[in-house]
Amino acid sequence: MKTNAELLVRLAKDLIRTRYDKKGHHSVVASVVLTKNGNVYQALNVGTYQPSISTCAEIVAIGIAHTAEPDMMIDTIVAVRDKEPYVVAPCGKCREYIADYGPKAKVLMPAQNKRGWTPTEISKLLPSKYRKRECSCK
Ligand SMILES: [Zn+2]
Repeated sequence: MKTNAELLVRLAKDLIRTRYDKKGHHSVVASVVLTKNGNVYQALNVGTYQPSISTCAEIVAIGIAHTAEPDMMIDTIVAVRDKEPYVVAPCGKCREYIADYGPKAKVLMPAQNKRGWTPTEISKLLPSKYRKRECSCK
């Protein structure tokens, strides 16, 4: 029997294999979110020719999940990259989103050999989460 993590990775890999943008400008990453309610949401990154304004697949997946389930909490999230997909780590911005929508979320982090993953609590990936009241900016 496959674990939830294996199924999520399989869904993400299937999505990016079918939607991968060979030119690498648009969709090159897929993400899958499992919510605490047991629902699964999938998304691709929203790339542009200007990489600095592209949106990560994890954020799009969280947005879709949040739209469908306003009070949703992330149970597990994964992102995979490339036509021959492998699990990738979320960037710092995505870690903030994951922590906001799932303070105890598990993130599937890549193994060193690119073939596996390790479930890791978001609190270990972002131990000093942003808090508005503790911020020095306005
Ligand atoms: Zn990101």
